[in-house]
This record gives sequence, structure tokens and C-alpha cells, in this order.
Amino acid sequence: MQGDEERDTRTAMFRGLRLRCPSCGRGKILSGYLKVKDSCACCGQELHHASVDDGPAYFTLMAVAAIIFPMFGVIYAVGEPDPLWVALVMMTLATGLALVILPRVKGLFIGLQWAKRLSGF
Ligand SMILES: [Zn+2]
Repeated sequence: MQGDEERDTRTAMFRGLRLRCPSCGRGKILSGYLKVKDSCACCGQELHHASVDDGPAYFTLMAVAAIIFPMFGVIYAVGEPDPLWVALVMMTLATGLALVILPRVKGLFIGLQWAKRLSGF
């Protein structure tokens, strides 16, 4: 059981972003694509308290939109490509980006919850 010592929020969030335990930075926090492990295999920190709900999904959506939307302006400023081609490329890119970003943002949220002792951490 952890004491009342100060937890560094930035370090915990960075560790979560790397999908590592916010406490020790070594153990993995996810057992599948998005399933949170019950505890850290390295330090034993309980992780089942994590309850990030829809937060990571909203932030992922905003991040993907912030990357994708300006690209439409660039693409159509350079030339006039076939709209079907643009739609297919952008949908593929948006899906790929979301799949890469979502688990990392979830880890970041878990790190924040751990550092702030939220959700029973
Ligand atoms: Zn750990």
C-alpha cells in the first residue's frame, strides 16, 4: 500500500503515455488493446481502480481532427485531387491515427488518475 507521499503528475502521465505503470514506469498497464491490467507485474501497484470512461476517446477524436482537418486545406491548396481518393486516404489515416493514439491517451489518463489519487488509487 502506498503512503501519502507526493506523486509527480508529469512523470506519471508520461509513463502512462508510454503504456507503463505510473508508479514504477516498468510494468505494462494494458493487457490487451485497451484492457487495463489488475495490477502491475513489476511493482504490484493495483491498476484496476482506473476508470477513465470516455475521456480518452474524446481527446483522441480531438487530436485526430486537429491533425486531419488542416490536411484537407493543404491538399486542396496544392491541387484538386479526386474527392473519392482524398476521402479514402483521409479515412484510412484517421482510423490508423486513432488506433495508435487511443491506448496512449488512456495510459495518460490512468497516470493522471494515479498521480492525483482519483478513482481509488
Ligand atoms: Zn509498477
